[in-house]
Amino acid sequence: MRIDIITCLPALLESPFAHSILQRAQNKGLVEVVVHDLRAYATTKHKNVDDYAYGGTAGMVMMIEPIARCIDALKQQRSYNEVIYMSPDGQLLTQGVANELSLLQNMIILCGHYKGVDERIREHFVTREISIGDYVLSGGELAAAVLADTVIRLVPGVLSDETSALTDSFQDGLLAPPVYTRPADYQGLKVPEILLSGNKQKIEDWQYEKALERTKLRRPGILGSEE
Ligand code: SAH
Repeated sequence: MRIDIITCLPALLESPFAHSILQRAQNKGLVEVVVHDLRAYATTKHKNVDDYAYGGTAGMVMMIEPIARCIDALKQQRSYNEVIYMSPDGQLLTQGVANELSLLQNMIILCGHYKGVDERIREHFVTREISIGDYVLSGGELAAAVLADTVIRLVPGVLSDETSALTDSFQDGLLAPPVYTRPADYQGLKVPEILLSGNKQKIEDWQYEKALERTKLRRPGILGSEE
């Protein structure tokens, strides 16, 4: 899988892909993440990537030319399954959307900033728009990192124990059960006895019960909504 992220603030995307699982995924050659600085595609003398909004609306708008040039340049090198624009009015990101995107070969993720991108980009270049929640961020970079993270960890081979993604919340229409690690007794706060029993079946039954209990209590809406 290859993910090309287009941004006017590449520095914001340095750290998320340089550590832990996302870094390992790239080191193993399973995923390639390439961040593109929009300024490199600017056409004006001062390398502007934004300009005043037509109609007198307050706030700057990201210009069409640098984005279009960047997307066109990428498309000349390979074909893309999706050109995704991160946007608060896009489709809400869920585990189901992440599962779907994890099957793709190449995708572009476009990060907006300021008031967003010129509408013509959304109409003619973008194939899909995704929101990470009903709130407004100052830029699409953090949202792009969230999207890329949730997609990359689903690519086969990225997680060392491949089944572990399947036991995460939402994947099976249930929230995850509680987890514990050493010590078994922290100043009288004990780990449930059953987890120390070594009885695999009983442990699995207990985990299922706890997952069900937690889902009914916190997110009854997802019960049975297997992805
Ligand atoms: N004026 C826009 C918000 C712009 S916020 C509006 O009211 O809809 C600036 C940029 O941050 C957006 O272009 C988008 O790329 C990103 N962004 C903000 N909130 C987001 C969210 N919830 N999900 C995904 N991207 C978001």
